[in-house]
Amino acid sequence: MVDSVDASRAGARLTVDLGAIRDNYRLLASKTKGACAAVMKADAYGLGMEQVAPALALEGCKTFFTAHLEEGIRLRQLVPEDCAIYVLHGPPPGTARDCFQYDLRPVLNDPGQIQEWRALARTLDRELPAAIQLDTGMSRMGLAPEDLLALSKERDWLAGVRPTLVMSHLACADEPLHPVNEAQRRRFEELRALFPGVPASLANSSGVFLGSSYHYDLLRPGAALYGINPQPGTPNPLRQAVSLHARVVQVRSVCDGAVVGYGAHHACTGEQRIATIAVGYADGWLRSLSGRGFAFVDGVKVPIAGRVSMDSITLDVTGIAPERVVPGSEVELMGSHQSVDEVAALAGTIGYEVLTRLGSRFHRRYV
Ligand SMILES: *Cc1c(COP(=O)(O)O)cnc(C)c1O
Repeated sequence: MVDSVDASRAGARLTVDLGAIRDNYRLLASKTKGACAAVMKADAYGLGMEQVAPALALEGCKTFFTAHLEEGIRLRQLVPEDCAIYVLHGPPPGTARDCFQYDLRPVLNDPGQIQEWRALARTLDRELPAAIQLDTGMSRMGLAPEDLLALSKERDWLAGVRPTLVMSHLACADEPLHPVNEAQRRRFEELRALFPGVPASLANSSGVFLGSSYHYDLLRPGAALYGINPQPGTPNPLRQAVSLHARVVQVRSVCDGAVVGYGAHHACTGEQRIATIAVGYADGWLRSLSGRGFAFVDGVKVPIAGRVSMDSITLDVTGIAPERVVPGSEVELMGSHQSVDEVAALAGTIGYEVLTRLGSRFHRRYV
């Protein structure tokens, strides 16, 4: 978005509440006797790592996770030197030296990544810190139990590596009664015994709420920091961290039988008033919200009429007095009337996807 345009007149405004994110961090950290990290992948779930990471460092967060090496390199400039930064995907082949140079700790997920890190340690003739990730049942990332057991039979299999964390990731933590949770916890318990004295970490946001037996030494929340409910179906203990407001571009009266939008999916019954707002699927307002989603004008809920376009959405504002919806009027898409989780449910997805898709054309405001 062009900086020279006054924010009050711009197309749409995304407000990120850093105070809410800090409050959420404090709440999550208060659940454990151990430490609480913060997951920063995908630009802090779309909210802006540049602003979010320093805010959390001020709140006392000392450990951060990114997915990619490049994210870790960017994060290194944003938080104090004494903060540990882990790169969840580990070093891509041939990048161990970059990882080292930027003082990043790779999460070692397989025998090949362990070899790369050890090779660099030999070259530099020093021990290098890293996390070891164990696959306890998700089959996505981490050492398979059989690989770990085979490796650990070799003498000095980790020579050169100083494990600073042993971790695993839960597949079903948002379903507290799912038997996979307990199965993963038990497997983690068994396998981490191979790393005596090394701090352990298992819980993502939802895992924090599975009870203290899942907490170990370090919590690893992402979503809950950003206001996504870690326990779907129960009241959200966390504060909403984002709001999104669009502006009306045009209001039209359309008569009985007229159709609205691509595919002529919405046919008007009687005279209707249609307000077009300047946000579309290119801004991350998912096309699956076509004919299903809602917005709020002056606190009144109005339905999306017809399909979401690339740059605009048509709202049925028939129920609102004409003088209250005019070009320039503000429309809430997320905020006090509609949470990220509610939008996600209507779109047939999860809050994680809604946040990480929020586009680059908004005026971003940090409060
Ligand atoms: C994304 C991720 C997290 C954070 O998960 P949330 O559900 O967002 O709290 C923690 N650990 C790993 C390995 C992850 O990939």
